[in-house]
Amino acid sequence: MAEHLKPWRNEKVAKLLEAMLQGSVPEASPQLDPQSELGFSFPFVSQLIHTTDKETAAWLESLAAEGILEKKLFDKFLYCPQCHSMNLRPVYHCPNCGSGDIARGRVLEHLVCKYVGTEDEFLLRGKLVCPKCKQELHTLGADYRSLGVLYKCYDCTEIFNQPAIRWRCIKCSSITPADKITEVNAYSYSLNEEKRNWLGFELGPKSRLVKFLQERGYEVRENATAIGGSGAKHTFDLLASRDAGVLVHQIAIGIEISPKEVGLDKVFDFDDKAYDSGIHHKVLIVIPGITKEASRFASRQRIKILEPSDLEAFLVHNIFPPLARETEAEVEKPPFHFKSKLELINYLQSRGYEVKENVKVKGRSGMEHTFDLLATRDDGIVVYNIAVGIEVSDNPIKLDRVFDFDDKAYDSRIPDKVLIAVPGLTREASRFAQRQHITVLEAKAMEPTE
Ligand SMILES: [Zn+2]
Ligand SMILES: [Zn+2]
Ligand SMILES: [Zn+2]
Repeated sequence: MAEHLKPWRNEKVAKLLEAMLQGSVPEASPQLDPQSELGFSFPFVSQLIHTTDKETAAWLESLAAEGILEKKLFDKFLYCPQCHSMNLRPVYHCPNCGSGDIARGRVLEHLVCKYVGTEDEFLLRGKLVCPKCKQELHTLGADYRSLGVLYKCYDCTEIFNQPAIRWRCIKCSSITPADKITEVNAYSYSLNEEKRNWLGFELGPKSRLVKFLQERGYEVRENATAIGGSGAKHTFDLLASRDAGVLVHQIAIGIEISPKEVGLDKVFDFDDKAYDSGIHHKVLIVIPGITKEASRFASRQRIKILEPSDLEAFLVHNIFPPLARETEAEVEKPPFHFKSKLELINYLQSRGYEVKENVKVKGRSGMEHTFDLLATRDDGIVVYNIAVGIEVSDNPIKLDRVFDFDDKAYDSRIPDKVLIAVPGLTREASRFAQRQHITVLEAKAMEPTE
């Protein structure tokens, strides 16, 4: 489950980010630390969140990769590739001939004879005299010019901007050319201010919502993708699934944070991608709120809208505490194999469902439908209804029976469907059931009940 979650869902990381949001840790800066593997560490951060130097560096990097922290080059650390010592001295030399006999200074060119040398070479008793042709230099820009501050090699007369560098290791005495030296960049990290409001929501209400769902037996994925029936790829802020034993409930959760009320277009888009992905349980969190028009659309489309005050009720006041009984039951329950109706009822009840037999439901067409069983469970986020149909015959159950069941569930707006087929389904009926997302429990025979 953990790999589906973002780094800031880790308690330690969240603690660091909270401190950054509050300003008590404005920046995580590296400190030189020859004892550590990297050569530097973040002792303040490691102490605050109780992580090793390596873990701290890895977390900071992953937060920077997510764009939550901004990183700035703090320092470059160099190591001897032979012995990994940081105790290095630069040795400068001529990039042309490799000689160490080089000097830095203002470089002049005597335009009369084209001699180029450092100012020191021209200086003679307080005057500038060309060491080659022995003439005195008079006017800058006329008979001589300055090439700026450069290096000159006294062995090969090469003039250059930057000397080449080799590194001498004080520990093992080896000499390494600059391009062969081991280089590690150390960065300092600070909060990306553009992410402040977003992060506040992520660490606060959203983190609590994820926990709320997990405590109720959901597996939660963040920024989860689903391939829709149309072939389009959709992303949901949260996708929560809960294995009910007979089927898996899925909830798409969208989060819309906008400067003003969330409008119809956003709600429409969310509904559209949930529909295309075949997900019927929909929750949309709207911050700071929602327009009347969008709210009407949401209620017609059975999208549960949570405004900040609703979230507060859920998460802070915990109006739907998880039942210890149901969490325990989930750990112990083996997968369900159908034997009898009574057993199915007991099974669903042990999973926290309220189960009724021969339930009448009025459909949107106005027709009244009867379901063999209706299992209902309200876990605070979503009210689940599972329609259970029981078909028993001497021969495999045909398409028309499955079609009728699917049709009345559709008319009753019940997306979670379980069909018990004794002794089984015809191939045609089975294909249809699969396409309509009906969970089929087949059994050779019903065990006698009562
Ligand atoms: Zn040289
Ligand atoms: Zn000259
Ligand atoms: Zn060395």
